[in-house]
Amino acid sequence: MLEKNSLQYLDEALVVLERGFSDLPEFETTVQPERLGAVLQEVAQRLQDNFPYPHPLYAGQMLKPPHPVARLAYMLALYINPNNHALDGGRASSAMEKEAVANLAQMFGYTTHLGHVCASGTIANLEALWVARHVRAQGLVLASEQSHYTHARMCEVLQLPYQSVAVDPAGRMDINVLEDVLKHEPVATVVATLGTTSLGAVDPLHEILRLREHYGFRVHVDAAYGGYFKLAANLDVQTHAAFDAMSQADSIVVDPHKHGLQPYGCGCVLLRDPSEGRLYKHESPYTYFTSAELHLGEISLECSRPGAAAVALWATQKLLPMEAGGEFARGLEASHRAALALHRHVANHQQYLAGLKPELDIVVWTLAASGRVAASRRAQALFDAAAHRQLHLALLRVSDHLATAWWPELAHDADTVTALRSCLMKPEHEEWLPRIIALLDTAARESLSA
Ligand SMILES: *Cc1c(COP(=O)(O)O)cnc(C)c1O
Repeated sequence: MLEKNSLQYLDEALVVLERGFSDLPEFETTVQPERLGAVLQEVAQRLQDNFPYPHPLYAGQMLKPPHPVARLAYMLALYINPNNHALDGGRASSAMEKEAVANLAQMFGYTTHLGHVCASGTIANLEALWVARHVRAQGLVLASEQSHYTHARMCEVLQLPYQSVAVDPAGRMDINVLEDVLKHEPVATVVATLGTTSLGAVDPLHEILRLREHYGFRVHVDAAYGGYFKLAANLDVQTHAAFDAMSQADSIVVDPHKHGLQPYGCGCVLLRDPSEGRLYKHESPYTYFTSAELHLGEISLECSRPGAAAVALWATQKLLPMEAGGEFARGLEASHRAALALHRHVANHQQYLAGLKPELDIVVWTLAASGRVAASRRAQALFDAAAHRQLHLALLRVSDHLATAWWPELAHDADTVTALRSCLMKPEHEEWLPRIIALLDTAARESLSA
């Protein structure tokens, strides 16, 4: 299951890296190889206690293994351990970060930008909302009911008034409800989610931008999970229209550690207007001495950051350019096709009740039953039976509003319905889908007869 062949290229690259420091007197860190080996073996034993995330039969939560090139470039960079807070801490890795981030900005159609890599989508969104607060101080921050829970939390941190906006049955921000709020309340910022975490629904950004012309507010796009689908050519017209409008948003967040094949610790925030960098201005006597160039630490809320994360991102983009029609884009298209195929399968089989037609690569469904309580119980039993057969899915609690819209035939004997959820994020999922479906149906038969 674990790809190990590429490790030889790490050895070769280390030789090249070391050459750059050959003027220094000989020095080597001392290790006691036997003890180190024994500890590592223990670590390997401990790590066996995990779901098999890299395997295609792991089709549950939003998890995608890093690309081998990202893993190796990260490890290579660890031998230097650069800190991208300042150029003193990592010249090469800061330059690579700027290139990698410019590449992402270009992917979204930004012609100008300021941005950087950060710890996560949550931190990236915090930063975007912090900038929003400085640019537009008065009014609500709005995001859909299906937006990531951290928006409400970060608004609390920033002491911004937050309000959620209802979604339509497609799980997208309801544009009529949004306009109603705009008519009655001062609104500073609207957060559009392009790819919600639980359903993969895409808010109608193009329509939100039309409202911006009339009402005037800041638009932040949370594309932590969905952003890379900008490159996919096989999405629905409405979904495409939202992605195409991204270049007009004031800020964008994307998580390379979600769909961008990166290890955790890699979010990214982009501002369209580079002059907003002025907001970060601060004095610090102990950094920034060696260069007049822009330091990434001057445009970031965080201080120390792993240069290795930027190096891994750069290497991945070098190997797999962020281009429509390229290998990376085709991987996303394969994930979308796999999700549509699984959705069709559950829609065509009477033991299941299909949820939304997937806009991206997340599929949600429950089990046919007399009512919500029985359907939920069956969903849980299927989840367990599938895991027993090594098919790992996730569970999702579907709200009353969406469950009523999707599954009116279920007796209303509970407020929510437990559903199964599958994120088919790996390009290999398309090829593995027949086996996934066979295991699912077997597990369904077992759990329904139990
Ligand atoms: C995952 C996610 C986040 C949070 O990102 P983290 O990297 O987990 O902190 C925010 N918004 C959306 C839409 C997400 O899917």
